[in-house]
Amino acid sequence: MLIDRRVLVTGGAGFIGSHLCERLLSDGFDVLCIDNLYTGSRGNLQRLRTFPNFEFLRHDVCFPLYVEVDQIYNLACPASPIHYQFDPVQTTKTSVHGAINMLGLAKRVKAKILQASTSEVYGDPAVHPQAEDYWGHVNPTGPRSCYDEGKRCAETLFFDYRRQHNLPIKVARIFNTYGPRMHPNDGRVVSTFIVQALLNQDITVHGDGGHTRSFCYVDDLVEGLVRLMSAPDDTTGPINLGNPSEFTIRELAETIIDLSGSSSRIVHTPLPIDDPKRRRPDISKADELLQWKPVTALREGLIKTIAYFDELLRDKRLEARPPEFGPHLAQATGGVALRA
Ligand code: NAD
Ligand code: UDP
Repeated sequence: MLIDRRVLVTGGAGFIGSHLCERLLSDGFDVLCIDNLYTGSRGNLQRLRTFPNFEFLRHDVCFPLYVEVDQIYNLACPASPIHYQFDPVQTTKTSVHGAINMLGLAKRVKAKILQASTSEVYGDPAVHPQAEDYWGHVNPTGPRSCYDEGKRCAETLFFDYRRQHNLPIKVARIFNTYGPRMHPNDGRVVSTFIVQALLNQDITVHGDGGHTRSFCYVDDLVEGLVRLMSAPDDTTGPINLGNPSEFTIRELAETIIDLSGSSSRIVHTPLPIDDPKRRRPDISKADELLQWKPVTALREGLIKTIAYFDELLRDKRLEARPPEFGPHLAQATGGVALRA
């Protein structure tokens, strides 16, 4: 018999959210997924709809929501730079108003609430690897600020609700995560390189490719989120969840070319403004408090992700954006999208 069995997942039609919903449904929870389908898709909900204990509601977290639940995972927010920079004011509103609304809901129904925060709260870090006690190096006025500062403000709200209302909160700082169901045109490095490699197009490495990221496979990340939610109430975080194996972007491109048997060439394109130079999580806190470590090696995770995109391309499901997907992303993604 599960306790706290009614779970709300905001952003559940997105990449990480859909995997999280699937995991929670398999564990026997009743899952209510809310999403405004800004970057998420109905396609991501297909498998979830086969579970009798799944419910979907189209809703924007910037508006109040009245439901009865025991746990809330707050993931609603565009996560890729081209998506969150397309309508930056909306991005900040989603993080801040969304957090206020979901915290208000949690307070009313006495639910535990987990925030999907991000390594971007560390900005372009002056400390390496990044531990949770590092306060970050964030530009408050640049093109990435809507996301970085929105997420930082959401963290503040979570901890103030904890101090002021004794709310059981959890804050996960998620580092770069990849896997099946990433949006094929979201500009994120793993999805972009894989699609380019499968189409034998040039692989666009920004800058000289010497900057680094640490890539966590989505199943590992979901395990970390679930463990954090079920940890004792005094385990609030913030807690880093990510894979500490660090790779240069050039190494990532070479690995993807190798694994996909592609004839793509690497080309160099300008480095975006405020692009962090290095990123690697210190996960000792997650190890100690959640007994959590990622178990999927990069090559293993990439093989599964390449297989997903390969099938997507073979199915010819990459096509011009259907009108119901909305005008925003059509421009942001060059008019190409996954069929919703
Ligand atoms: P995603 O874009 O695939 O998913 C985000 C989901 O939120 C989408 O389904 C979108 O439609 C929905 N959404 C956006 N604005 C909304 C709103 N106002 N109301 C309701 N729904 C809304 O991104 P993802 O990679 O799955 O990221 C999920 C969460 O994890 C985000 O909060 C993101 O900031 C965080 N995160 C992700 C990564 C990563 O590498 N993927 C890293 C750090 C943090
Ligand atoms: N990147 C790249 N080529 C691309 C897309 C991204 O070289 O076509 C780089 C990007 O500049 C960044 C890294 O890959 O240094 C990770 O980018 P992503 O957008 O996936 O995540 P974030 O910058 O938010 O970590």
